[in-house]
Parts: sequence; C-alpha cells; structure tokens
Amino acid sequence: MVSCELTFVDDKSSVCQRRLRDAVVNHMIHTCGEGRCLVEGKYSKGFRKPFSDETIVDAAADFAPRRRNNGDSVITGYRDPGTGKRTEQVSTNQYVVPYNVYFLAKYNSHINVEFVKSFSVILYLLGYMLKGPVTLDVLLKAKNVQDC
Ligand SMILES: [Zn+2]
Repeated sequence: MVSCELTFVDDKSSVCQRRLRDAVVNHMIHTCGEGRCLVEGKYSKGFRKPFSDETIVDAAADFAPRRRNNGDSVITGYRDPGTGKRTEQVSTNQYVVPYNVYFLAKYNSHINVEFVKSFSVILYLLGYMLKGPVTLDVLLKAKNVQDC
C-alpha cells in the first residue's frame, strides 16, 4: 500500500503513530529548491502535487494517490551545502513522497514507493525473475593428433 499523507497525531495518538509521523516528516517530505529539483526555472520532480480526497486509478491506469487537504502541515527545509543558505517551506500532504508504512517503520529511512501503472512493466519484471541464470553452450572438440 502506498501512502502520501502526513500521519495526523493528537493527544490520543499512540507512540507508533507519533513515530510514524516523525519518520514521514524526517524522511518523506520533498523540499523544493535550487540544487535539489529546480532545473532551468522548472521544478523537475513534479511537486507540489494536487490534493485529492481519494486514491484514483483510472482506465488509462493513471494513478493519483490520496492527498487530503486537511489543514495539516509542517515546516521543512534544507541547507544548501555550497552557500550555507537555509531554505524552508510549509509542507502539506502535497509534498509527501509516496511511502509504504511497513518499510518506513522498519527501516526509518527514505524509501520512495511508486505505483506501477503499466502492464508491460510487470511482464518485464516477471521475465527477469523467470529467465534463469545466464547460460552458455560450449562444444569442445579433441584436437586430432595426426593433424600436427
Ligand atoms: Zn521540488
């Protein structure tokens, strides 16, 4: 399952929910800026993503994960290693990189999970797994001693 939202926490939230939110904030927020995604004046990673109240997979196999506009946000940022300048942004669900709760909780690291939307990609991956090891047919012939 792919998630693209900050995990909401309040006074009644469990320790696990708080840890998950911390992991999302620490590892799964895309912060835009020069040296990161701004290439020739355009944001190359496609963030900020549109809000969506539900996950949509349409007939053309286009995928839009749920990113609700629920008012939740965090301040995120980064420091440019070249200039030392810090850039900050208000990050809503529009800036959450797709993640899997299990992988994020287990590895506490940035793991971008994407929905595969093309049937040919599945065939390609299965073909890779089922084709077996690389083999080579070799025919050895004994050299005729009389020819020497
Ligand atoms: Zn960006």
